[in-house]
Amino acid sequence: MKATALTVGSIGTNCYILYQEDTKAAVVIDPSDEAALVEARIAALGLTPRAILLTHGHFDHGGDLGRLLARWPVPVYCHPADRDLPTWLTHGVVFDRELADGQTLGLAGMEFSVLHTPGHTPGSVCFLCREGELMFTGDTLFQGSCGRTDLPGGNWKQMAASLRRLAELRENWAVYPGHGDSTTLDAEREENPYMEMALREEV
Ligand SMILES: [Zn+2]
Repeated sequence: MKATALTVGSIGTNCYILYQEDTKAAVVIDPSDEAALVEARIAALGLTPRAILLTHGHFDHGGDLGRLLARWPVPVYCHPADRDLPTWLTHGVVFDRELADGQTLGLAGMEFSVLHTPGHTPGSVCFLCREGELMFTGDTLFQGSCGRTDLPGGNWKQMAASLRRLAELRENWAVYPGHGDSTTLDAEREENPYMEMALREEV
């Protein structure tokens, strides 16, 4: 498995493209609201997308995925709890296949486990790819921070529970967030003040 990343769109969203070098089959995570560059990267690498995964339903993560669907009509996976968000937060996002906590997805020869981690939105998820111990955390966990909880559907108590859940994973996963630099779960367990706050709130 190989991975390539782009930071694109109106709010600088990280889009990740995971692919197999031999079959060229690919999975696109969060193609953003400016998918022209994503489309160009996919085409330049000669890849064939098999699925689009959304860490949550916000427009800056999936608002322009229709551009990819027009060329590669693939399933789009998102947690259904984000369907009810106001449309100014989700415009352009296509809700197609429903994700559920604990689900395992086999896509393009890769296996993804779904962790439902609400807080930033009701339907936020993290995708864990055991091959390579990669974790895609969307706007749940950032390097040294976490996603905002003050937008409609946001909830700090849920975010705290989600951060605790991530902190309690045993492995030291490589963390690829929806915005900003990549990090590791060990680094965040040691240095992330929001994760620390979440762990302290546990009673
Ligand atoms: Zn968001």
